[in-house]
Amino acid sequence: MTVRAYAPGRVNLIGEHTDYNDGFALPMALQVGTDAEFDATGAGSAIIVSSAQEEGAVTVPLDTMPGDVTGWASYVAGCVWALRGHDVDLPAGTLRLRSDVPVGAGLSSSAALECAVLLALTASSGALDRTELARIAQRAENDYVGAPTGLLDQMSSLHGAEDTALLLDFRTLAVDPVPLRLGDDVLLAIDSYTPHQHAAGEYRRRREACERAAAELGVDSLRDAADDDWKRLADAETRRRARHVLTENRRVLDAADALRSADHAAFGALMNDSQASMRDDFAITVPAIDLIAETAVALGAYGARMTGGGFGGTVIALAPADAARSIVEELPARVAGAGHPTPTVTSVRPGRGAHVIVDV
Ligand code: ADP
Ligand code: MG
Repeated sequence: MTVRAYAPGRVNLIGEHTDYNDGFALPMALQVGTDAEFDATGAGSAIIVSSAQEEGAVTVPLDTMPGDVTGWASYVAGCVWALRGHDVDLPAGTLRLRSDVPVGAGLSSSAALECAVLLALTASSGALDRTELARIAQRAENDYVGAPTGLLDQMSSLHGAEDTALLLDFRTLAVDPVPLRLGDDVLLAIDSYTPHQHAAGEYRRRREACERAAAELGVDSLRDAADDDWKRLADAETRRRARHVLTENRRVLDAADALRSADHAAFGALMNDSQASMRDDFAITVPAIDLIAETAVALGAYGARMTGGGFGGTVIALAPADAARSIVEELPARVAGAGHPTPTVTSVRPGRGAHVIVDV
């Protein structure tokens, strides 16, 4: 039996580092993703996995444990491991992956891979709901691969839909679809080609700062703090970190309202506020990212902000069509002229969420 599954990458439109604070985010699935094709052979005790993006095949034992498989295939091994304990009968077989999500660009090639693999491996069991699959993928990434990420990426990939952004509430894991009608406006993903170096350590430090802030405020998570509670924190840096999270949660809710009334100028203003907050309060941007966002706005975008965990990656900009043309034509040379890698500008639209393509 061959099962093919597809899962998209994502961009987060607004709401950064809010997921692990039980807060809100507003991502969308992309129209690029990962295909996972699984041939169950029945015989044997391992899954042999290969990827069009990587040399060679890797053996993932069905009884794999964290540490057994390292490198890119650890994302697959993590899924196999995290599925254990769920009502899934995993057969041996071969798994082939192919992806058109750029790796390490902040568009979540890792979640696209995990979600496609999980759907392919569980398609015939059929018992797991989307949010449960998202949690399993997160466990694979956190506890097997060792990357401490929130649930945003996997929820976006599994729940995405065409022409739709997703208002996610990480406390309840409720998914509220918000229509994203671009009309004559354009969403641009601008890859900075600045890889997120040291991102894992910095990510951990931001998480710890948020935990410290919540503890000092006497709440379980920053979701339970009042909008201006950050003022009560003693340490100046912790105060800025908390202020980012608290103001970002508010911006996400306002941004969802702006989309519902198709007010792209208001949405853009919130993107710009978010970018400033990530730069000044949460300190997760880098100079190339800041320059790309500023340049996109100078060329007429309603708004532009870094998307993803930070320290590099991609900027997302919302622009009227004529400004989008100027950005495509002028932004790469301007940014390169300042000594940064030449960015690429791609138009993106909200795409379909993860699904099984063929089940034969
Ligand atoms: P992002 O999710 O932003 O693209 P991550 O660092 O979280 O960046 O995940 C990228 C890693 O995921 C790669 O280094 C690789 O190990 C793995 N990966 C993603 N897509 C593929 C693929 N198609 N084939 C093999 N490995 C992949
Ligand atoms: Mg990732």
